[in-house]
Amino acid sequence: MATATYARPLMRLLDKLERLPGIGPRSAERIAFHLLRASEENARQLAQAVLDVKEQLQFCKTCFNLSEAASCEICKDPSRDPTMLCVVEEPKDVLFIEKTGAYRGLYHVLLGAIAPLDGIGPEMLKTNELLSRVSDGVEREIILATDADKEGEATAAYIAKLLKIAPKARITRLASGIP
Ligand code: ZN
Repeated sequence: MATATYARPLMRLLDKLERLPGIGPRSAERIAFHLLRASEENARQLAQAVLDVKEQLQFCKTCFNLSEAASCEICKDPSRDPTMLCVVEEPKDVLFIEKTGAYRGLYHVLLGAIAPLDGIGPEMLKTNELLSRVSDGVEREIILATDADKEGEATAAYIAKLLKIAPKARITRLASGIP
């Protein structure tokens, strides 16, 4: 006797939902049944919002922040101080620092942190791009503002070592990191 399963379209949705970070089988089921009860219009808006971020957003070619164009607004802003470079893990960290309004330099987004247990090594982050960016002979202060957790600390230590070969870089570690 075959095991009872959901109809194929529902199984497909459950499979996609379960691949999202932090969503287990139970959450996937809850979301799927919520969507089944939602109006077609609401479901369509959700699907369109997902497509829109993929189609309308890209990573800035210089700093890897999220951008609607090849270069982001911060990189294009001539009033930003090019002698200060703040290294963060994710675009959300840029947003967090920008909200404080206290920083007027540029950013470099690594798009992750070193996490050996999750199979994420430095070569999967934008570390080489950072190195070539700061190897232009410009004297600058590099602020390592990766998270204050184990992965963030390991990433900061790796980058500090990597940037030793960029002689004009002064490296500081933001004491607390990003919480
Ligand atoms: Zn940028």
